Amino acid sequence: MALISNQIQLIRSENAFKVGPYIRGLEAEGHKIVKCNLGEPDFPLPTHIRNEVKRQLDLDNTHYTDPQGILPLRKAIAKYIGEARDIKLTPEQVVVFPGGKPPIGFCQQVYCDPGDEVIFPSPGFPIYESFIQYVGAKPVPLHLREEIGFSFRGADLEKLITPRTKLIYINFPSNPTGGVATKDQLVEIADVIKKKCRPDVRIYSDEIYEHILFDGVKNHSITSVPGMLERTIIATGASKSYSWTGGRIGWAVFPTVEEAKIFTNLNINYFSCIAPYNQEGARVAIESPESKTTIAAMCKAFQERRDLVVSKLNAIPGIQCQLPKGAFYVFPNIAGVVKNLRIDEAYKSLPEDLKKQTSPSTLFQMFLLYKYYVATMDRKSFGQLGTEGMHYLRLSIATGMEDLKTGMQQMEKAAADTKGFAAFIEKREHLF
Ligand code: PLP
Repeated sequence: MALISNQIQLIRSENAFKVGPYIRGLEAEGHKIVKCNLGEPDFPLPTHIRNEVKRQLDLDNTHYTDPQGILPLRKAIAKYIGEARDIKLTPEQVVVFPGGKPPIGFCQQVYCDPGDEVIFPSPGFPIYESFIQYVGAKPVPLHLREEIGFSFRGADLEKLITPRTKLIYINFPSNPTGGVATKDQLVEIADVIKKKCRPDVRIYSDEIYEHILFDGVKNHSITSVPGMLERTIIATGASKSYSWTGGRIGWAVFPTVEEAKIFTNLNINYFSCIAPYNQEGARVAIESPESKTTIAAMCKAFQERRDLVVSKLNAIPGIQCQLPKGAFYVFPNIAGVVKNLRIDEAYKSLPEDLKKQTSPSTLFQMFLLYKYYVATMDRKSFGQLGTEGMHYLRLSIATGMEDLKTGMQQMEKAAADTKGFAAFIEKREHLF
């Protein structure tokens, strides 16, 4: 009998956390790394939220609490989500989780039986794909199209829907592309869903970047389209909007109270409840008018950085980068660099076992990290199935302006360093 179950070996991971030890290793050798790998705002937790958490700790609000989430927070969530999307919600439909991540996998446990099909965006947040085989479901990637701002049309989705479809993930503003859906696109997608899916097919609308928007663009939710609220789970949280990734607070609104109860029971089974002092902090984050100001300041900084990074990237031969409308990532197409540095040829010449673990964009990612000290993420980190021949990187712009300027200079040098890349590959080190 094996120590580790076969099933657990089917779960994947999020590579953004894998790059951390590589960076620490390089830093220990004395290198300064420009960190464009991590998806977390580089701003402090806003003072008004911090003060509330401290106040709650001083009140000794540190004990077990409601596993569904404290009622004042659920009320605040139902109110702000409902008002922003023009929909009616009750606090009984809301469940609070330790971050925006847990409901992703929980939904697959709750809704999917073996053989059911799960549609997810690719490129997309890796946790959607990570769980699918673990729960015995079938992964069905929905490839986002660069030419329409990394979005998809109703017809793209329609082709993938079958009688076994059970769960469909959508994510706008998107990680890793920064794409934002227009109202019309969402209406078109909703029409396909209403036409082709049974009412028990669930749509998971990941809106965790709901407040990180540029150029005056608004977040549209598919739940605002008539007939969609009763099929859709809205998931979001505090990590990105309030620069509070370590607070581990997220929430989801379910179509029915019965479903919310099932998720509450999963909370009881896995972690009992979320730290009550942080839940009070999240309530203040949602209700305080000061949050508007801190979010606006953060978006202004991200937009300035986006403008700099996108213009610098587009000036590098071999790179094409779209202007994201939300979130804090840029997702350049590096096909030209792959060609110019002969990365494809180098990849093809690798032994089969190495090839399986890397990709052309991974090779450039690792070359950038180990030779030019810029940490980025490769295409493979955002969905693996059917992505051969797709050459992209994700850069997070949640890094200071000066670091980003250095990073862009380094990328420009790396993208022209044919000899350096050949020598890097020759060594057969750090290839994934
Ligand atoms: N959903 C998306 C699209 C994300 O990008 C992230 C984090 O990067 C999450 C969910 C998870 O967020 P949290 O840190 O709150 O668990």
